[in-house]
Amino acid sequence: MAADEKKMLSTFNRLTLVARHLSRSPAALIGTRRCESSLSNRNLLINHPRKMYRIEERGAPNTLEHRIFFRDEFGPVSPFHDIPLFANQEQKVFNMVVEVPRWTNAKMEICKEEPLNPIKQDVKKGKLRFVANCFPHHGYIWNYGALPQTWENPNVVDERTGCKGDNDPIDVCEIGHRVAKRGDVLQVKVLGTIALIDEGETDWKVIAIDVNDPLAAELNNIEDVEKHMPGFMNATVEWFRIYKMPDGKPANEFAFNGAPKPHEFALEVIVEAHEHWKKMVAGQVDCHGVNSTCVSADGAPCKVPISEAQEIVKKSPELTDGPGLESEVDKWHYTHLQK
Ligand SMILES: [Mg+2]
Repeated sequence: MAADEKKMLSTFNRLTLVARHLSRSPAALIGTRRCESSLSNRNLLINHPRKMYRIEERGAPNTLEHRIFFRDEFGPVSPFHDIPLFANQEQKVFNMVVEVPRWTNAKMEICKEEPLNPIKQDVKKGKLRFVANCFPHHGYIWNYGALPQTWENPNVVDERTGCKGDNDPIDVCEIGHRVAKRGDVLQVKVLGTIALIDEGETDWKVIAIDVNDPLAAELNNIEDVEKHMPGFMNATVEWFRIYKMPDGKPANEFAFNGAPKPHEFALEVIVEAHEHWKKMVAGQVDCHGVNSTCVSADGAPCKVPISEAQEIVKKSPELTDGPGLESEVDKWHYTHLQK
């Protein structure tokens, strides 16, 4: 092949990748989407212009190298440490980082151990991890993700559950109608929480709704979920109880026998986990391997300049095409608990 043909081909390949990346980028500008918010919710956002987060994918999707980094208007940020917990503290609106869009199976999460904490797929015995479909569900039944700047402290026993924290940010199930995109940063209203006990560790699952969802104004507390979405909380608890059973694990346990706790209780859990996170990034407690490299979080000694953050991202392989998913991922498992 002549040199100029090669050059043309590589330019073409690069353009294809850029086009593909742009078509996948969620948010592109989340600020634009805010303009579509309903009038009743728009007042939540006045005087609190959000930062415009977007994602930068690296490596090939569906491979061990795939990473999703986050950027704000200035450069790369850590979704764990730099995105603020509160979108509007006074009105108790929280930022939520979407790791798993509803109805998908790939167990993607903020990587605690790597600098800037990109989202990556969980790996078990060298293989990418997918959650099984427990009939009649397909994948996760909500948009699933994490509350930034929270940490379930594994050094401390949570008095409400009698178990130590699971060393992760707090998990969120966002129950709005829209299927979010991986890497979206949603603004959510907290409705309540359930307390999964995962192999002896406390693993709070906060139930929340996107403030821009048409139902958001109607949902203010956990009992409103049953009123407007009958059966949904029971299905949620059942989902968490059985989701690891197809992999040969026992049913999961819950504190309070799976009874959901209300809004105020959930806020208390979140605020406490935020305090634990502050101590962890400040280096005041054993961080259990959490990488605190970030660019702007208050009180974090591991802040790096934007140029260094850019270098971190560049070290990972560039975005390329990845393999498709195996049909095994779509298999239904007829897993039920004994009644
Ligand atoms: Mg967790």
